[in-house]
Amino acid sequence: MNARGPRDAVGIGMTSQRTRSRMVERLREKGIRDERVLAAMGEVPRHLFVDEALASRAYEDTALPIGFSQTISQPYVVARMIESLIGDNGIPARVLEIGTGCGYQAAVLARLAREVYSVERIRALLERARTNLRGLRLSNLRLTHGDGNLGLEAGAPFDAIIVAAAARAVPQALLRQLAQGGRMVLPLKTAQAARGRQRLAVLERGARGITETVLDEVLFVPLETGKL
Ligand code: SAH
Repeated sequence: MNARGPRDAVGIGMTSQRTRSRMVERLREKGIRDERVLAAMGEVPRHLFVDEALASRAYEDTALPIGFSQTISQPYVVARMIESLIGDNGIPARVLEIGTGCGYQAAVLARLAREVYSVERIRALLERARTNLRGLRLSNLRLTHGDGNLGLEAGAPFDAIIVAAAARAVPQALLRQLAQGGRMVLPLKTAQAARGRQRLAVLERGARGITETVLDEVLFVPLETGKL
């Protein structure tokens, strides 16, 4: 796990830039329109975020296991969620991610936003994310070990909040930490989704309060409480 060496070399087989470009083309075909998001997805080497045994599948549009019963999100869902955070003010400057996992989505966000904060509850996974991210030198990305239900008071308010685990209800601390005009996207368990699945909800803090838009049906691991 996370052994570095030949994997860092660019242009080898299934992990090459060309394979990544094909993934980007598929995202475009599936309806991702924002060129900045597509470019960021084309730049982050997803194969460095999964176990070496899965590297050849890293550019398939599918979630993959990353240990600790968790998964790396499907590229389409990552792109869709980030795209949904972009409003009239363009790319949000300060972003909070809940659920760092292996660090992939955090890396994509850090290619786009000025400052990115990411919170993970499983310490060992956070350490793995740090290792995965080391070579990318993203100086605008800060990782924190904690319970994301509480958000990150020290860094608030955020222009955007992205939750990578499924909640039953919107965590109130996150809502409080959302700036005026800010957006939050999260998978919510709702009656509108099939059993065991969720719908992506986009919440926006406007002048007259919070508005909610419901997007695609998705499948995420649960948002747990407490930290490990
Ligand atoms: N962002 C990742 C996806 C991670 S999967 C990617 O780029 O692919 C969801 C992650 O959320 C898991 O690592 C899980 O441990 C974490 N998680 C679940 N509940 C959490 C909570 N309350 N606070 C912080 N992280 C949480």
